[in-house]
Parts: sequence; C-alpha cells; structure tokens
Amino acid sequence: MQIEELDRAYLFHPMTNLAAHEQNGPPLTIVEGHGATVTDSNGRDYLDAMAGLWCVNVGYSHPEMADALHAQASKLPYFHAFSSMGTELPALLSERLIRMAPVPMSKVFFGNSGSDANDTQAKLVWYYNNVLGRPEKKKIISRRRGYHGVTVLSGGLTGLKNLHDGFDLPLPMIRHVRPPHRLWERAPGQSDEEFSTALAAELETLILDEGPETVAAMIAEPVMAAGGVIVPPDTYFPKIQEVLDRYDVLLIADEVVNGFGRLGVPFGSDAVGMRPDLMTVAKGITSAYVPLSAVLVSEKVWQVLLEGSAKYGSFGHGYTYSAHPLAAAAAMANLDIIERDGLIAQVAENGAYLHELLRAEFGDHPNVGEIRGKGLMAALEFVESREPLRPFAAQGAFATAVTLHSREAGVITRALPEADTVSFSPPFVTTRDELERMVVGVRAGLDRAVEARR
Ligand code: PLP
Repeated sequence: MQIEELDRAYLFHPMTNLAAHEQNGPPLTIVEGHGATVTDSNGRDYLDAMAGLWCVNVGYSHPEMADALHAQASKLPYFHAFSSMGTELPALLSERLIRMAPVPMSKVFFGNSGSDANDTQAKLVWYYNNVLGRPEKKKIISRRRGYHGVTVLSGGLTGLKNLHDGFDLPLPMIRHVRPPHRLWERAPGQSDEEFSTALAAELETLILDEGPETVAAMIAEPVMAAGGVIVPPDTYFPKIQEVLDRYDVLLIADEVVNGFGRLGVPFGSDAVGMRPDLMTVAKGITSAYVPLSAVLVSEKVWQVLLEGSAKYGSFGHGYTYSAHPLAAAAAMANLDIIERDGLIAQVAENGAYLHELLRAEFGDHPNVGEIRGKGLMAALEFVESREPLRPFAAQGAFATAVTLHSREAGVITRALPEADTVSFSPPFVTTRDELERMVVGVRAGLDRAVEARR
C-alpha cells in the first residue's frame, strides 16, 4: 500500500472531517522540512506560513536541535520526576524559565501539551482554594474564541463551539465572556477605551451574578491565536486585571503561542500588560521538536500549594513524561538558538515588514475586512462586503477556499474556526524574500477564491 492509502485506512486524524478523510485521504504527505520550507512526497516545496501549528519557531531541521536531541538521547533519554527524583536538564530549564518570566514566578511544573498544562492550571486553582478553605471558589472564566486546548477541562475553556459539540463540553464550572474583537464586538462609534471599559464591566457583572465567592480564575491568551489573531486594545488587560483583583480571582496567561518571541517581545504578557498569577507555555518552548509544556507558578500561589502538603500529603498530580530530559534538552537548545541569533529582535523587525506587506497587498481589497496581528503573527479576516460590513453567509467556506488555492500557489496557511480568517505565523528564521513570497501566494489564493465565486 502507498503511504496515502495506509493513512486513509488506519490513521485517525485530529481536527479533521472524518468522513471526508475516509473518502479522500491526506491532501499532502509532508516528508521533509528545512527552515521555512516543507516538501511533500511528490517533491513539491511549500513555504509554511504557519510554522506547523504556530510552533516551529527556529525552523525545520535546525542542525543544533538535532545535535542536542542526539546527545541527550545517547546519554539519558528518560528518567521520571515522581517522588522528588531529579534529572539535570529539567532543573536547568526550570531555572531558566523563572529567569525569563515576564512577571516574578517561583516554580515550574512540566507537562506534554498546552491542553494538559491548562488542565493542570485548573487543578492548581482548585487545590489552592481547597487549601485556603474556599471549596465554593471553583469557576473558571474564559473568553469566546479563546483557545486553550481540547482535553476534558481545557476543551471547555476553549471558547469555540466546534470543540464542544458532541463532547458534552464545557464542564459546568466554566463561563465565557466576550472577546476584545473590534471587528464584530465593538459597538459603532465606540473608542478602544470605551470598548475595554464595556468588556471589563461585563466581566464584573458576570462575577457578581455568579457570586465572587464561586469564581476562582480567568484564563486568557495575551494575543488570541486560533480564535482569530486578536490583539486587544491597550487598556483592555489593565481594566480586566483591576476587576479580577477586586474579587480575588487569579489570572492565568496562556502563552502557548505568544511565549518565547512570537510577538517580537519575549512574552505576550509583556506586550499587553498582563500580570498573571499563573502562566502556561508550550509550542515555542521547544519549537515543537519534542512535545513539552510548562506551568509557571507565582510565589503567592506556591505558598498556598506548599501548605497543601500538610493537608493532602504528596501532590497527587503528574505525568509519566513530566520533566522529560529529552524535551528539556530540546528546550535548552531552542532557547540558546533564539537568544544567540537575536531571533526575537528579528521577529519584531520582520513582523513589521510582514504587516507592511499585508497592508500594501490587501489594504484596499473589498473582501478584506481587517488586517491585524503583531510580530510574526497576523491574520486577514474576509467579509462579503466592507461597506456595509457584512460577513459571508457560509462562515469559513471562503477562508478555506483561500487556503486551498494558496496551497496550489505553494504557500501553506490556515483557515481559523468561527471566522473567515486566514493566519500567518511563520518560523522566526523566515527571510524577507520568503515573507514576500508568502504574501504573494496568499494573494493568488484570494484572487482564485474570488474568481470561483463569480
Ligand atoms: N493554548 C493555546 C493558546 C493554543 O494555541 C493551544 C494549541 O493550539 C493550546 C493551548 C493547546 O495546546 P496543545 O495542542 O499542545 O494541547
């Protein structure tokens, strides 16, 4: 059997229309990647404008990453961290993360994915309130369009309907509020300041309606990724933070996409003025060479967790792969490359260039409702009409067509859910020439999608 046949017959694909895959199999089989380019089984090259799923930040097949993994696999591929057992690389990495953190943090808990890390966050928040003798304070607030994962708890934190339907999610302790998405959520004539004030007031109303004694935490991506690349107004998080502080509600920053330089600054919290009590990182921590996530815990939370030892004994949470030495070796090498090569400054410069290119190419297009983003993270949201503002009737179909046609033009991008949006999140090492070719490829995809509607 050909690889494509084996895939169609046996591989249960994530986030895929199962019936369509059963019929058609994979549209491409990627066999190789270097820098910002991936190659399929027919030998065709594509520029990957999404760095996989917002994650291959140092680019594909970086020789130093391969060397670091080989060295660690040859020395100690695995040992666990249960019952206080130590290994070298996770200890080094945890110290480095605490040093890098955008706000003071004290401890690092390692997991394997953004989803499991956000489940860990919920468990920490519940444990924290149980230790404090506040068993009612358990609800977690998230935002519509926010993406926090797919596990039983984190799938409900994610504010996207398709991740709930059919799965009996969200769990009952989760609440959602409106996102700071100017295009659709801001009232006509409302300033950024007024919009932020209104969203903070809605959050406060929700907390008061639920009863502050029942609300434990809020989770938010600094700049939303999968929900549409939504950059909040400058005063949004300071106003949200004020409300959370008033009712003793913890803030969890989900830095899974933003963290480690994607926005041209080390962390999203720096960019939007968040002061989280807890932080989640994954993806860019290893540039996805090996699965790894981490939860960073502030001293305020840590001191309470410590008190839990007397009440509950050993902390009853952890994964076989928590503090995996191979993953930690990948993270250390990845962070070395980013630091040594000045990649975060490069993201800031090339990100500004990408946004210039996008404005020049799409700024006047009648079907582009908004161009947004920050650093090497950008999105185009398509609309049926700009004046008056009207979305496409069949939500998502147009953006999907743009991505399919862009791929024919040699550029891989993604259509984001619950919107007609395509996103850009290229590897940090993408050259200016490659950025130009990505934008030209997506423009060709848009032109063909427009033609196909005629
Ligand atoms: N949080 C954010 C902001 C994400 O973008 C993602 C994945 O895209 C996750 C959490 C979940 O991460 P994972 O897919 O590794 O479980």
